[in-house]
Amino acid sequence: MNFYILTLFPQMVEEGLNTSIIGRASKEGIVRIETVNIRDYSANKHHKVDDYPYGGGAGMLMQAQPVYDAWQAVTKRIGKKPRCIYVTPQGSVFQQQKAKELAQEEDLILLCGHYEGIDERVLEEIVTDYLSIGDYVLTGGELAAMVMVDAISRMVPGVLSNEESGMAESFEGNLLEYPQYSRPEEWRGKKVPQVLLSGHHKNIEEWRRQQSVLRTRERRPDLLKNANLTREEQELLRESFTKKN
Ligand code: SAM
Repeated sequence: MNFYILTLFPQMVEEGLNTSIIGRASKEGIVRIETVNIRDYSANKHHKVDDYPYGGGAGMLMQAQPVYDAWQAVTKRIGKKPRCIYVTPQGSVFQQQKAKELAQEEDLILLCGHYEGIDERVLEEIVTDYLSIGDYVLTGGELAAMVMVDAISRMVPGVLSNEESGMAESFEGNLLEYPQYSRPEEWRGKKVPQVLLSGHHKNIEEWRRQQSVLRTRERRPDLLKNANLTREEQELLRESFTKKN
């Protein structure tokens, strides 16, 4: 899968994505992450890429021309117009389901804004998806693009090794993951739950599923309305609710 990241700060993105699992996937050629410096496409002799917004107001705005030319250089070179995501607090919130959906694409362009954002006219021309990483405002889109590239890449076959597999992770089936423990069996007086030491796979699976349900109820009850719970699991939630109150 190929990512093309249009940004004013390519170094920030490159350094952020060249280590650990995503760095390994890049080196192995499973994903390719290319940054495109929007400033290189400025038609201004001083390489300026921003100007004052019409109508006044604080801050500067990235101009349409360099953004459009950077996008056009990529699309011409690769001979297609992939989905182009503008990372923006004004987009719908990026979630695991969206990461899985986007991991099906062969190519993706991510556009990072800076300053007060980008001239609306170029967004209308090139953007297919508006995505946010949460309801807060960052200084630039680079961190948001890195978050998305990381989450999407993990869903590309071959990026995670078997041990790292994302099959039973949080958000699968709209549940959070169960608690996990590693050695030693006892740490600061806290013991690993007995069932996990039993070697009894069916009991372990059942315990984990119950813990997922309970943890989701405690930390992200909003997810439960779309989780497919058995009658016993619904009963478990009712019981634990009665116990607590
Ligand atoms: N003036 C804009 C507004 O109120 O919607 C915010 C601009 S922000 C300071 C600069 C850039 O950071 C945006 O163009 C966008 O690319 C990026 N950005 C900021 N917050 C973000 C978020 N929550 N998710 C994704 N990108 C974000």
